[in-house]
Amino acid sequence: MSLAPRRDHVLLTPGPTPIHPRAQQALLRPMLGHMDPEVFALNREIQADLRQMYGAGEGTFTALLAGTGSLGMEAGFANLVEPGDEVLVCANGSFGHRMAEMAGRYGARVRLVTAPHGEAIRPEAVAAQLGGVQMVALVHGETSTGVLNPLPEIAELVRGSGALLTVDAVTTAGMEPFEMERWGVDYAYTGAQKCLSAPPGLAPVAVSDRALARFEARRTAVPLWYADFGGLRDYWERQTYHHTVPVNLHYALHAALRAALDEGLPQRQHRAAQVGRAILQTLAPLGFSPYVERAAERLPTVLALRLPPGFDDAGIRQALRVREISVTGGLGPTAGLIWRLGLMGETARPEPYRALMLALEELLGERGLAARFDEAVYGAARTVPA
Ligand SMILES: *Cc1c(COP(=O)(O)O)cnc(C)c1O
Repeated sequence: MSLAPRRDHVLLTPGPTPIHPRAQQALLRPMLGHMDPEVFALNREIQADLRQMYGAGEGTFTALLAGTGSLGMEAGFANLVEPGDEVLVCANGSFGHRMAEMAGRYGARVRLVTAPHGEAIRPEAVAAQLGGVQMVALVHGETSTGVLNPLPEIAELVRGSGALLTVDAVTTAGMEPFEMERWGVDYAYTGAQKCLSAPPGLAPVAVSDRALARFEARRTAVPLWYADFGGLRDYWERQTYHHTVPVNLHYALHAALRAALDEGLPQRQHRAAQVGRAILQTLAPLGFSPYVERAAERLPTVLALRLPPGFDDAGIRQALRVREISVTGGLGPTAGLIWRLGLMGETARPEPYRALMLALEELLGERGLAARFDEAVYGAARTVPA
């Protein structure tokens, strides 16, 4: 296996995403110790920037966990659930079911609210089951099906109930509107390699003051020592040793997060919408159609497209991979039925999708896809030769 640099790979997967150039550059910085004053200063900037990304209040504790998004998910249940607690988990896809599995392992009595694949969780279904619940858990954007769940509406119901609200913000925070304080979200997490386009290995989390109060009132020790909020606060707030944080990944995440805030979150939201619309306009005449029926329930950062009848899913994706283009298919019940095109972070740009259209022209014998895509992205003016 050669480690020589290779030509750019076109990564259209719904995570990981290509590393932002500023994050790539930051990875070259020399190593410092995890207790170095410069690293603590960098961490403080990361904490403030995360508060901004999540739309979090002043009393919110933000930090990076040394693991992927799933560790962010697990830390929420490990710290905020005690054995016997009633936890209402909204599960309309694989990640919702992963939440239910984890909550159960930490001793929760899990109540499930489900919806058919490709459909959003209905707020009325949540309202009907809220009585006596200590926590509600929801995936904002379900990557496995491309569904955006109605978080603001569900949050409003939960707010009056006394339950904590845990939200998986992996496909939304940093790209789509996320208003932790205004909506009343108590715990949110994401993964560095999704909307922020940083290397995998860090989970940015945010813990509201209400969730911290619940944590302080625990009767039992947190069963997951590594991600105990108390230990994390020792390091992130009191600057004492808990475990060795991956300093180089902190550099890269800091740079990627700054790049996102410099660009502006509304601009990033616009990018995802614009490229997503252009992909759909280009591929619809070939028989691709949105997997999620209702337009308001489509997750802008993961475009789930139903494949045309008779389409050779595995064969075409393999031929694309030979051309250095990675496209992700369905998962579980949607395997062979859909493609899931990523529009998070650096993937939500015209250039990588133009490369897909050029390759599909060749593989499907369909001329003019790239031109149609250009026109959809930039308007007719840009496609007229000078
Ligand atoms: C990717 C993803 C996760 C899990 O993240 P890992 O980084 O793979 O651990 C959780 N939730 C959603 C919605 C995701 O898309």
